[in-house]
Amino acid sequence: MSRPDPAADAGNTHGGGAQGDIAREADRLERRDVDRERGEPVAARQSRMNSARARPRKARPLAEWDSRPRILVTNDDGIDSLGLLALKTALEPLGDVYVLAPDTNQSAVGHTKTFMRPLRVRERMLADGSRAWSADGSPTDAVSLALLGYFDMGFDLVAAGINYGANLGDDITYSGTVSAAMEAVLSFVPAFAISQEYYEHPDFSLAGLIAYRAAVNILENGLAPGELININVPAIPIAECQGVEVTRLGKRIYQDELVERIDPRGTPYYWIGGPPPTGLAEPGTDFDAVVNKRIAITPIQLDLTARRLLKRLHSWSWTLPAAPAVAEPAVAEAQSAEAERLDEIVTAQVEPEQERR
Ligand code: MN
Repeated sequence: MSRPDPAADAGNTHGGGAQGDIAREADRLERRDVDRERGEPVAARQSRMNSARARPRKARPLAEWDSRPRILVTNDDGIDSLGLLALKTALEPLGDVYVLAPDTNQSAVGHTKTFMRPLRVRERMLADGSRAWSADGSPTDAVSLALLGYFDMGFDLVAAGINYGANLGDDITYSGTVSAAMEAVLSFVPAFAISQEYYEHPDFSLAGLIAYRAAVNILENGLAPGELININVPAIPIAECQGVEVTRLGKRIYQDELVERIDPRGTPYYWIGGPPPTGLAEPGTDFDAVVNKRIAITPIQLDLTARRLLKRLHSWSWTLPAAPAVAEPAVAEAQSAEAERLDEIVTAQVEPEQERR
């Protein structure tokens, strides 16, 4: 049985609508059959309701996979980003790639997740004519939708990027790109984030090569729970690249400035502006690698425990201060009088209502 070809029916389904819904439903049924053939947890509408999800398959050499890996591609720059398309294109030779990304630029939203309103998903067409999906939420929402069963299937890998602009050192605490990978890891799906230094007319060919290499490595070697990989690529042609370096997170230096302006009604408003961040070029860091035209591969873990501080905290005193004294009798009396008064008010308000019944 053949996998649905996202490119084949892109023309029919662009813009969603009844045609799109029919096509998607047909694909869903076909995917469910594929799952049955593979002996995987069945991906179906039912699975969404009882939250039985297909788990990623075991890492092993790609030659030993009995079917193509399923890869989810997302980003934080939005569905129209050429970096997203470049990542999808780079990973397509490896597996079945599905794209679900925010419908607008969500850069620097961090790990935000939408709980207080519904999410809408739309079928879209990428610049290469292939089918993709966009959601009106954050990168984390996009990953959640996919991994909680939007496609009625599980994924073996999540790739986020290629971000316009590096995510080095402390940047990862703001980054929607890295947060998308974190969300995947929280759902036990291995993931990597990939970003490229910002420049005007990006050429993503070098980033595409390392994305492919990273995906192969993760699918073949696996990542432990809580681990992900953050990749940063210098904005240079392939020929100028000085190599690939496994690094630690560096130290960013932010130069944020508060810019005050006056709106047409005379009220001040504010921008957080200033020049782009720099960083400390310490050898061994992601920042140092990228400024020296090397690709930085940084292992990240979700366990944020500060190990050194953990030790120091043991030597601090954690005895609680004495509990507050019991209320004085006079105060207690006043409080109970107040409670009685409130009681009367509430009773008075409720009674007329009861009489009407
Ligand atoms: Mn971004």
